[in-house]
Amino acid sequence: MRRPRPLDKVGSIKAKWSIVIVAAVGVTAVVSQVGYYLGWPVWIRPIISAALALIAVQFLAHGMTMPLRQMARGAREMATGDYKRRVTVTSADEVGQLAESFNRMAAELAEVDRAQKEFVANASHELRTPVAALRSHLENLVDHVSAPDPETLATMLAQAEHLSKLVVQLLDLSRLESTVEDRPGELVAVGVLLKQVVDEAELLHPASLISLTTSGPLGVLADESRLHQLFTNIIGNALRFAPMGSEVSVQAEGRDHDVVVMVRDQGPGIAPQDQARVFERFWQADGSALTGGGGAGLGLAICKRIVERHGGTIRITSNKPEGACVTVTLPSRPNP
Ligand code: ADP
Repeated sequence: MRRPRPLDKVGSIKAKWSIVIVAAVGVTAVVSQVGYYLGWPVWIRPIISAALALIAVQFLAHGMTMPLRQMARGAREMATGDYKRRVTVTSADEVGQLAESFNRMAAELAEVDRAQKEFVANASHELRTPVAALRSHLENLVDHVSAPDPETLATMLAQAEHLSKLVVQLLDLSRLESTVEDRPGELVAVGVLLKQVVDEAELLHPASLISLTTSGPLGVLADESRLHQLFTNIIGNALRFAPMGSEVSVQAEGRDHDVVVMVRDQGPGIAPQDQARVFERFWQADGSALTGGGGAGLGLAICKRIVERHGGTIRITSNKPEGACVTVTLPSRPNP
């Protein structure tokens, strides 16, 4: 059975120690007085007082330092990569608050550790596939099983390009996640930037049908190359998933203190239950890896980091009657 902790409800260590000291002094004084009236020998009174004061302190202070010992053990275990230990929080004082923070930190570290392991596993898996394919083609060439004809070389080149795109995306994502840069401060006209991205997309996809509508002054403080990368990615996805001949619409407008950009397509869209997951690293809808030009599910994860770095938000919803609508909201340039 758990021993009672009478001071658990007291909200400060200072108050707890004051109570403990007052109790010890009180017990000593009472025992001395009682001993005096009962005629106990002088030498025995302090011994009994000390013993009873000690019992009182033990009773009152029971469990006060236990969370600290548990935290010390937990911290040692964390240093070896074990994040399982949690501290039992029973008191309302600073030690209790510290224990709660420790438990939260341990849970967050465990989650970061899990995500990191999953990321490494996914990255290795994604890298292994094109490397294995490239290697088997090269082995065939070396062993003269196949000839270096243009078709084989083109396949190998495609695999090398896929590999190189993956490595670039992984490096980019890790840079965006690990470095803490100052908020970018270049004034970017979103309307002009979108026109440029749309023109480039039309050059790359001559059969595509992209409409661009912008309204109002659309200035944001941003890193222009990152915004270019963001919109190229989103418009590229829309073009990839939109059926041939259908229109991809890009619309930008100023709303309150924000610039809102919406990219709509008439492709298969994303099921509502998956709409938050598309921004996770390596997430891809079933079968979408087969859609030409796709990557490994890192594009939207990179987009999310870019938008967050600019203090904005990105979300994907369903377009009516069909397709996907990606909405990017960025804080507009503050008034001088
Ligand atoms: P990938 O480079 O593999 O396409 P992304 O992060 O850009 O990676 O996209 C992740 C997944 O989100 C895609 O594989 C696809 O399943 C889905 N997706 C992204 N954009 C669209 C869109 N416009 N329409 C339908 N699905 C989309």
